[in-house]
Amino acid sequence: MMKKYVYAFEEGCKEMKKTLGGKGANLAEMKKIGLPVPDGFTITTEACNQYYVDGKQISSSIRTEILEYLEGLQKKTGKILGDVNDPLLVSVRSGAFVSMPGMMDTVLNLGLNDHSVEGLANLTGNKRFAYDCYRRFIQMFGDVVLEIPKYKFDRVLDGQKEKQGYELDTQLTVEDFSLIISQYKAIVKKEKGFDFPMDPVDQMMRSIEAVFGSWNNDRARVYRNYNDIPHDLGTAVNIQSMVFGNMGNSSGTGVAFTRNPSTGENKLFGEFLINAQGEDVVAGIRTPQEIDELKDALPEVYQQFVDVANSLEVHYRDMQDIEFTVERGKLYMLQTRTGKRTAFAAVKVAVDMVESGVITKEEALLRVQPSQLDQLLHPMFSPEALKNATAIATGLPASPGAASGRIYFHSEDVARQKENGVESILVRTETSPEDIEGMVVANGILTARGGMTSHAAVVARGMGKCCVAGCSEISVDEEDKYFTVGDEIFKEGEWISLDGNTGTVYKGKLDTVEVALTGDFALLLSWADEFRTLGIRTNADTPLDAETAVTFGAEGIGLCRTEHMFFSEERILNVRRMILSNTLQERLESLRLLLPYQREDFIGIFKALGARPVTVRLLDPPLHEFVPHKDEEIRNLAKDLDQTYEFVKYKIDNLSEVNPMLGHRGCRLGLTYPEIYEMQSIAIIEAALYCKKELGIDVKPEIMIPLVGHMKEYTILRDLVKKVADQIIGEGDVTLDYKIGTMIEVPRACLIADEIANEAEFFSFGTNDLTQMALGFSRDDSGKFLPEYLKKNVFDKDPFETIDQNGVGKLITMAVGLGRGVKSDLKIGICGEHGGEAKSIDFCHRSGLDYVSCSPYRVPIARLAAAHAAINNK
Ligand code: PEP
Ligand code: MG
Repeated sequence: MMKKYVYAFEEGCKEMKKTLGGKGANLAEMKKIGLPVPDGFTITTEACNQYYVDGKQISSSIRTEILEYLEGLQKKTGKILGDVNDPLLVSVRSGAFVSMPGMMDTVLNLGLNDHSVEGLANLTGNKRFAYDCYRRFIQMFGDVVLEIPKYKFDRVLDGQKEKQGYELDTQLTVEDFSLIISQYKAIVKKEKGFDFPMDPVDQMMRSIEAVFGSWNNDRARVYRNYNDIPHDLGTAVNIQSMVFGNMGNSSGTGVAFTRNPSTGENKLFGEFLINAQGEDVVAGIRTPQEIDELKDALPEVYQQFVDVANSLEVHYRDMQDIEFTVERGKLYMLQTRTGKRTAFAAVKVAVDMVESGVITKEEALLRVQPSQLDQLLHPMFSPEALKNATAIATGLPASPGAASGRIYFHSEDVARQKENGVESILVRTETSPEDIEGMVVANGILTARGGMTSHAAVVARGMGKCCVAGCSEISVDEEDKYFTVGDEIFKEGEWISLDGNTGTVYKGKLDTVEVALTGDFALLLSWADEFRTLGIRTNADTPLDAETAVTFGAEGIGLCRTEHMFFSEERILNVRRMILSNTLQERLESLRLLLPYQREDFIGIFKALGARPVTVRLLDPPLHEFVPHKDEEIRNLAKDLDQTYEFVKYKIDNLSEVNPMLGHRGCRLGLTYPEIYEMQSIAIIEAALYCKKELGIDVKPEIMIPLVGHMKEYTILRDLVKKVADQIIGEGDVTLDYKIGTMIEVPRACLIADEIANEAEFFSFGTNDLTQMALGFSRDDSGKFLPEYLKKNVFDKDPFETIDQNGVGKLITMAVGLGRGVKSDLKIGICGEHGGEAKSIDFCHRSGLDYVSCSPYRVPIARLAAAHAAINNK
């Protein structure tokens, strides 16, 4: 049988989206269930692909099939394309499998020519309208099909308005349009060397080709890349008989959602215009009326529309976005599709539909995208504020939320301003741990350098603070306190605003709206917990973060980075004294002073977590991160330590490394300075014993050794920790279950995961470092070239954001297999930034991990993503 490339609307159904595209399939479905849809037919997505196979031509057999269906359409409508008396006019619209709004082309009013325009004028009794349609058609066809720049036509229209002294298009008369039409035709002749095609079939075939061609235009390709839509789907083309909403006061056009797309309220929401065409609504020439008012204007049509909208929602079992036109009191449906909605509305609609028995809990969960939930957890800029906002630069959307503040370049300035009640944004070339104080009090953070796992990004996400990182368009002068974007200078004290969801930096102050957590949100997440099999832990370094994470549903701590505890003001001097000490004795003395602080921290965290497991990682970053680098600060430190400037400078210079990310850090520090890990182990175990004995909490500490690549690195340090722990426990009168395990973040650790698993009690994948080392992309510097890699599609997505499943993913699967091969119940988690990202979470589910761990504000996202993974991989 010959392949079928064209379907009349009555031959299709909603299940045929792949062939008919979303628009075509839904038009067919509406026809099928008896709704009033203007007649038409759909040329399939396969015909589009065939068009490319045939060297961008419609083959003669497909052409014949199209003409047969045109014949059928003419019979059904009793009108003829291009007829002088009763012309059939059609729209030619694209419609892909996945909706790609505005990316492809459309031609309206097709079938008009010098003769049929008179027919339209007679039929509507409105010559001006007919001529306006005709000139619009020439312009649209000229632009879309003949590829003549639109401005050439605009110039004619504007010229005529100017000549006549008009302000609005509506002032143009039949005579003006007549003149414009002949000038438009002259443009076509001049640009293309042939006359504007009068043959309507020729017009139609060329338009179909143009829509097929628009599948591969630049913006469509970029859109597909961005949204992970395959390039080989092709678009369908819908040819539909035009109906006119501008045939007087019993005609009109509108757009409506079956529920409110902002709030989710179960009430028809939309607008309409009497005596108008669709473009008038979009162009904003007239202000539309609210859909409720249609009740007064056209009561019967309103009731019919309400019934149709209800039946569509019941039929599709989801909120619909509907386009309609009323022609002389008769309602026509032009489109229905799943309505796009805010996160807030998505949650409410999903929960409401489960409660009214329309959908199952699983369906409800799948209808809310995990990444959307960010909107519910952070403030956003108000839509009105964004309308008038001026964007000045774009960086990486490192931590979501919206923040405005005055620019300050130094942490101390931010803190000082805060005391005076001044809101600020901390702007730095890049942040270092010393900036932590400013980061805590600033409303938001902007850095010129650094990627998604840079210090600024990780810390900001942990705090739930808005951050735009790696914004290379800005150049920061911290010394003279200004930054530039191109020629524009932004000085200390000026207002800027950051959108951490998009990475956009705006000039000035923008209003924000707080989005409150609702009962529906909590309920939906409790359903997620029923389905997910992955555990959800959090990366938290302070009791406050830990408490926040627990309220968001964290079931434990997967990573407590102990270094963050070293930065606060009262400790840093002792940390520095320890690092710069000359003898072991001096170092031990400084560590002794730090011990009570660490113990207090752990007590706070254990209290917040109760009986949930807490994984504490021993010190990881290179020591140079803890010491100052500016001359003045070094001098101050020398004074505080009672040392000479030269001595302190010499010691600090000695700590500097060419590539500290691959340098003296992690377990390498533990091996060279075992006393540091010893002190930390004492603090953890003493804190745990205190909580157990004095507070009755059944604490479950897990001590984690970072950056292990060799089994002996692990065993030497495991023995050290174990010795300390057992000794302290042995001296007391309570028992304590604790575990020792390791991070898997060096590729070699994946290769020898079986050896390590023989010794370790748990694994936690540190995918930030694992990605860095597997790819050889420095976490600190990859921001310089990664954007270009993404632009050139070397990677679809930033591998520091979503796991590179083909590469790093293979290392993970191998390590899980090797590890569980020797210890089948080995507990395995992930604590890199990927632990809070939906696609990576799906990968972790499939790889058999026990839990994912992410920053507190991502815990709800991870709960939903883990439920998606469980449902989708059933
Ligand atoms: C990691 O490397 O993935 C990790 C969690 O550790 P850090 O980011 O602290 O190096
Ligand atoms: Mg790491």
